[in-house]
Amino acid sequence: MSLSDFLAARSSQTTQRLPPKALIITFDDGHRSNYALTSVIQRHRIPITIFLCSGIVGTHRHYWWLHTNDSGERQALKALPDAQRVQTLLRKGHADGREYETRQSLSRDEIEEMKSAVDFQSHTVFHPILPACSTERARWEVVESKEALEREHGLKIYALAYPNGDYSDREIGLLQNAGYTCGLTSDAGFNDSETDPFRLRRVALPDDAGVNEVIVKTSGLWTFLKAFGSRSTNPRRHLPS
Ligand SMILES: [Zn+2]
Repeated sequence: MSLSDFLAARSSQTTQRLPPKALIITFDDGHRSNYALTSVIQRHRIPITIFLCSGIVGTHRHYWWLHTNDSGERQALKALPDAQRVQTLLRKGHADGREYETRQSLSRDEIEEMKSAVDFQSHTVFHPILPACSTERARWEVVESKEALEREHGLKIYALAYPNGDYSDREIGLLQNAGYTCGLTSDAGFNDSETDPFRLRRVALPDDAGVNEVIVKTSGLWTFLKAFGSRSTNPRRHLPS
């Protein structure tokens, strides 16, 4: 089902019910490779949501975390206060506003072509770690991304996926004040009509996941097996009830 249908179904103002085993498919960032999904989603009529960084899509700007291939360095950058992360990247030759020769994100024309079949939503402007930002910067990322995507691409923005899945009560308040209806985390798990709409959980899948991995993870079997595995090595840990 689509994200908007899920929100409508969980709302008490509607008689629409959540279907059993409902699945919402989302992609973060707006990478240019997402364009290859177009024919598949049109052919199978699969509703998907892609969360766009408004300051990167439609430009030749680069995603900051792709500036390094070193996963340790990437994690270290994510742990810095945001102003320090930006300064560190500047010294390494990356600036959020710099236009490179190569394009990493969806182009303006690709978004235009895909938007009848894809629900495009917000993933901030430049993908900072929001809780590491000053309140002023975090608010700008949340407000400006919504306004820019609506203004420049004619979209209706109601949802934001927290970059890197990082959020706090402050971010939830910023989303609510900016007029968002929901926020998507990277907290692993499932959602029902009781789930806080600003703490929606997701099941992460690697880009190269095969159909078996998709089934095992989205069915909940993966969580069960992991809990079972850790119980067998740690007798004090119990299976979730
Ligand atoms: Zn992201």
